[in-house]
Amino acid sequence: QAAPQVTDAYVHQLDRQYVFHSWAQQGAQDPMVVAGAAGCRVWDHAGNTYLDFSSQLVNTNIGHQHPRVVAAIQQQAAQLATIAPAHANLARGEAAKRILARAPQGFSKVFFTNGGADANENAIRMARLYTGREKILSAYRSYHGNTGSAIAATGDWRRVPNEYARGHVHFFNPYLYRSDFWAESEAEECERALQHLRRVIECEGSRSIAAILLETIPGTAGILMPPKAYLQGVRQLADEFGIMLILDEVMAGFGRTGRWFAFEHFDVVPDLIVFAKGVNSGYVPAGGVVISDAVSRHFDDHLFVGGLTYSGHPLAMAAIVATLDTMADEGIVENADRVGNGPLAAGLARLAERHALIGEVRGVGVFHALELVADPVSKAPLPAAQVGVIKQQLQARGLLVFTAENRIHVVPPCIVTEEEVKEGLAILDDVLNAYANSSN
Ligand code: PLP
Repeated sequence: QAAPQVTDAYVHQLDRQYVFHSWAQQGAQDPMVVAGAAGCRVWDHAGNTYLDFSSQLVNTNIGHQHPRVVAAIQQQAAQLATIAPAHANLARGEAAKRILARAPQGFSKVFFTNGGADANENAIRMARLYTGREKILSAYRSYHGNTGSAIAATGDWRRVPNEYARGHVHFFNPYLYRSDFWAESEAEECERALQHLRRVIECEGSRSIAAILLETIPGTAGILMPPKAYLQGVRQLADEFGIMLILDEVMAGFGRTGRWFAFEHFDVVPDLIVFAKGVNSGYVPAGGVVISDAVSRHFDDHLFVGGLTYSGHPLAMAAIVATLDTMADEGIVENADRVGNGPLAAGLARLAERHALIGEVRGVGVFHALELVADPVSKAPLPAAQVGVIKQQLQARGLLVFTAENRIHVVPPCIVTEEEVKEGLAILDDVLNAYANSSN
């Protein structure tokens, strides 16, 4: 039988017939076809190219198809494509060593997972086992991953110490633009958010709380830049009550904010660091937990009741080693800082002055959100369907962005150049102009 001709139509039809999509009503899906990619660009089979200012799911920090990372994966595949986690393996040890070299003083081990969600699951597990407490406090405006019931559904003994789909409590984190605290300044928002968290801790019973889990900068929730004093205040509350602080750096880590870790902006050090995405730009799925000295020592003589077949998978590990070495050699984190906090931030601020549709721009590095509003005075969010229309129009003009609710997230790879920023901003400007004219 002759192989079918590969066209966008064929790939689209295969997908619609056989593939079940994440977070989707299946019948409403119309996925864009991607045939290949390099750097900040992707293309389809017909040869249409797009500037990727979404970094896919905000993970291709090093850009698409970096030759050094691709070669490292190929080399590792030829040498040893898989190995169980109980064995010692060169790529795994080198990956852990490099991640620890980027972490602050006071961290000594890395536990590897398949992605961000199971990294959070295991950080929570460690906090519970270490403290002997159960509750986990986290923010309403956050995303930490999509697992949680698999182990509770498991039937054998491993379920018993892991029936953890309980004991979760939420609180409001600072978000001055839509303050839940009637605050009018960042200082007020910060102080009231901390007072609120203190009350939640007191009301939940501080001795029942294992950890506070926070995205250092909540990403999908809107790139909500916390006041510096907020994260420092959370650290103090955690210390006061003997609660662990887990910072989820899955989206914000490994270069995205122009630093290796986002918490470096806030002079705060957590007890556990959760990572995934940018650590190897998703070339092979990986995530993990960077573990502080005290917690590492605890598990020297206490059983860690957790594990994964693919923990520290050699292909993912080789991709981590090559990604982190390349990011250092090519100054990619510095580039995210220079281009992101320079031309990108300045250009987005100019767009906000020109377009009433943009209620607020916020962010750092190559991690920015445009909050779109139907009315700048009432701040009524632009309906998600309208944001979808704008996203389509941007795509038709060759620009991919990440959207969530009423927001456009401008999150290009950390390698983005000034020229690419200029090109992307010009498309944004044109499309927002056309949208405003058509809706007047
Ligand atoms: N944590 C944060 C902050 C995330 O943004 C995400 C995914 O977007 C996750 C965790 C979950 O990661 P994964 O989809 O790799 O499980």
